[in-house]
Amino acid sequence: MQGCFLCDLIENKKLSNLIMENEYAMVTFIDQTREGQCLIFTKNHRKKMSEMDMEEYNSVGELIIKVSKALEKKYDCEKTYLLCISDKVEHIHFHLIPKHKNFVSMGYYCFGKLWEEEGKRETPESELKARSEEIKAIIDNL
Ligand SMILES: [Zn+2]
Repeated sequence: MQGCFLCDLIENKKLSNLIMENEYAMVTFIDQTREGQCLIFTKNHRKKMSEMDMEEYNSVGELIIKVSKALEKKYDCEKTYLLCISDKVEHIHFHLIPKHKNFVSMGYYCFGKLWEEEGKRETPESELKARSEEIKAIIDNL
Protein backbone atom coordinates (compact mmCIF):
# COMPACT_ATOMS: atom_id res chain seq x y z
CA MET A 1 0.00 0.00 0.00
CA GLN A 2 1.35 3.41 -0.98
CA GLY A 3 2.37 5.61 1.93
CA CYS A 4 2.79 2.71 4.33
CA PHE A 5 6.18 2.53 6.03
CA LEU A 6 6.24 -1.28 6.18
CA CYS A 7 4.86 -1.86 2.68
CA ASP A 8 7.59 0.48 1.44
CA LEU A 9 10.27 -1.54 3.27
CA ILE A 10 8.96 -4.78 1.80
CA GLU A 11 8.49 -3.44 -1.72
CA ASN A 12 11.88 -1.76 -1.92
CA LYS A 13 13.69 -4.60 -0.14
CA LYS A 14 15.25 -2.25 2.43
CA LEU A 15 15.45 -5.04 4.96
CA SER A 16 19.16 -5.38 5.63
CA ASN A 17 18.46 -6.74 9.11
CA LEU A 18 16.06 -9.44 7.96
CA ILE A 19 16.28 -12.48 10.24
CA MET A 20 13.77 -14.76 8.57
CA GLU A 21 10.54 -14.85 6.61
CA ASN A 22 7.85 -17.23 5.50
CA GLU A 23 5.00 -16.99 3.04
CA TYR A 24 3.06 -14.37 5.04
CA ALA A 25 5.42 -12.60 7.41
CA MET A 26 8.92 -11.27 8.01
CA VAL A 27 11.04 -10.53 11.06
CA THR A 28 13.86 -8.02 11.37
CA PHE A 29 15.98 -6.44 14.11
CA ILE A 30 15.14 -2.87 15.05
CA ASP A 31 16.64 -2.43 18.55
CA GLN A 32 14.38 0.58 19.27
CA THR A 33 14.11 0.06 23.00
CA ARG A 34 16.28 -2.85 24.07
CA GLU A 35 19.04 -4.87 22.46
CA GLY A 36 17.52 -7.70 20.48
CA GLN A 37 14.15 -6.05 19.85
CA CYS A 38 12.64 -7.45 16.67
CA LEU A 39 9.78 -6.42 14.48
CA ILE A 40 7.51 -9.07 13.00
CA PHE A 41 5.08 -7.95 10.34
CA THR A 42 2.74 -9.32 7.72
CA LYS A 43 3.75 -9.14 4.07
CA ASN A 44 0.23 -8.13 3.14
CA HIS A 45 -1.00 -4.75 4.30
CA ARG A 46 -3.30 -5.41 7.25
CA LYS A 47 -4.49 -2.59 9.45
CA LYS A 48 -5.71 -4.77 12.29
CA MET A 49 -5.50 -8.35 13.51
CA SER A 50 -9.10 -9.07 12.58
CA GLU A 51 -8.14 -8.66 8.92
CA MET A 52 -5.83 -11.70 9.09
CA ASP A 53 -7.01 -15.23 8.44
CA MET A 54 -5.80 -18.19 10.51
CA GLU A 55 -3.18 -19.27 7.99
CA GLU A 56 -1.63 -15.80 8.02
CA TYR A 57 -1.89 -15.53 11.81
CA ASN A 58 -0.26 -18.95 12.28
CA SER A 59 2.61 -17.98 10.01
CA VAL A 60 3.21 -14.91 12.19
CA GLY A 61 3.05 -17.16 15.26
CA GLU A 62 5.62 -19.51 13.77
CA LEU A 63 8.11 -16.63 13.43
CA ILE A 64 7.32 -15.33 16.92
CA ILE A 65 8.04 -18.70 18.52
CA LYS A 66 11.23 -19.40 16.55
CA VAL A 67 12.72 -15.95 17.09
CA SER A 68 11.72 -15.96 20.79
CA LYS A 69 13.65 -19.18 21.27
CA ALA A 70 16.68 -17.72 19.48
CA LEU A 71 16.57 -14.48 21.50
CA GLU A 72 16.31 -16.39 24.78
CA LYS A 73 19.34 -18.43 23.79
CA LYS A 74 21.39 -15.50 22.48
CA TYR A 75 20.72 -13.15 25.40
CA ASP A 76 20.10 -15.71 28.13
CA CYS A 77 17.04 -13.59 28.85
CA GLU A 78 14.18 -14.56 31.11
CA LYS A 79 11.59 -14.41 28.31
CA THR A 80 10.39 -12.20 25.48
CA TYR A 81 7.58 -9.68 25.50
CA LEU A 82 5.20 -9.42 22.56
CA LEU A 83 3.41 -6.16 21.84
CA CYS A 84 1.07 -5.26 19.01
CA ILE A 85 0.00 -1.64 18.92
CA SER A 86 0.14 -0.50 15.27
CA ASP A 87 -1.16 3.02 15.92
CA LYS A 88 1.47 5.17 14.18
CA VAL A 89 2.30 2.58 11.53
CA GLU A 90 -1.09 1.24 10.54
CA HIS A 91 0.23 -2.06 9.26
CA ILE A 92 0.05 -4.96 11.68
CA HIS A 93 3.39 -5.49 13.36
CA PHE A 94 4.53 -7.12 16.56
CA HIS A 95 7.40 -5.97 18.75
CA LEU A 96 9.29 -8.91 20.19
CA ILE A 97 11.44 -7.63 23.04
CA PRO A 98 13.84 -9.66 25.19
CA LYS A 99 13.36 -9.25 28.95
CA HIS A 100 17.01 -9.05 29.87
CA LYS A 101 17.96 -10.01 33.42
CA ASN A 102 17.55 -7.13 35.89
CA PHE A 103 15.51 -5.06 33.45
CA VAL A 104 12.37 -3.35 34.68
CA SER A 105 9.17 -5.16 33.76
CA MET A 106 7.44 -3.69 30.73
CA GLY A 107 4.15 -4.35 32.49
CA TYR A 108 4.56 -0.98 34.20
CA TYR A 109 4.71 0.81 30.85
CA CYS A 110 1.72 -1.11 29.53
CA PHE A 111 -0.49 -1.08 32.61
CA GLY A 112 1.12 0.69 35.55
CA LYS A 113 1.52 4.00 33.72
CA LEU A 114 -2.07 3.77 32.49
CA TRP A 115 -3.32 3.00 36.00
CA GLU A 116 -1.35 5.96 37.37
CA GLU A 117 -2.83 8.34 34.82
CA GLU A 118 -6.38 7.02 34.55
CA GLY A 119 -6.86 4.91 37.67
CA LYS A 120 -7.39 1.19 37.76
CA ARG A 121 -10.80 0.09 36.55
CA GLU A 122 -12.98 -1.66 39.10
CA THR A 123 -15.62 -3.46 37.03
CA PRO A 124 -18.15 -5.50 39.04
CA GLU A 125 -17.97 -9.28 38.49
CA SER A 126 -21.59 -9.34 37.28
CA GLU A 127 -20.82 -6.81 34.56
CA LEU A 128 -17.75 -8.80 33.44
CA LYS A 129 -19.88 -11.95 33.28
CA ALA A 130 -22.59 -10.21 31.23
CA ARG A 131 -19.98 -8.77 28.89
CA SER A 132 -18.33 -12.17 28.37
CA GLU A 133 -21.70 -13.69 27.47
CA GLU A 134 -22.27 -10.85 24.98
CA ILE A 135 -18.86 -11.41 23.33
CA LYS A 136 -19.45 -15.18 23.20
CA ALA A 137 -22.73 -14.56 21.36
CA ILE A 138 -21.00 -12.28 18.86
CA ILE A 139 -18.27 -14.90 18.28
CA ASP A 140 -20.89 -17.60 17.76
CA ASN A 141 -22.42 -15.48 14.99
CA LEU A 142 -19.21 -14.59 13.15
ZN1 LIG B 1 1.43 -1.65 4.80
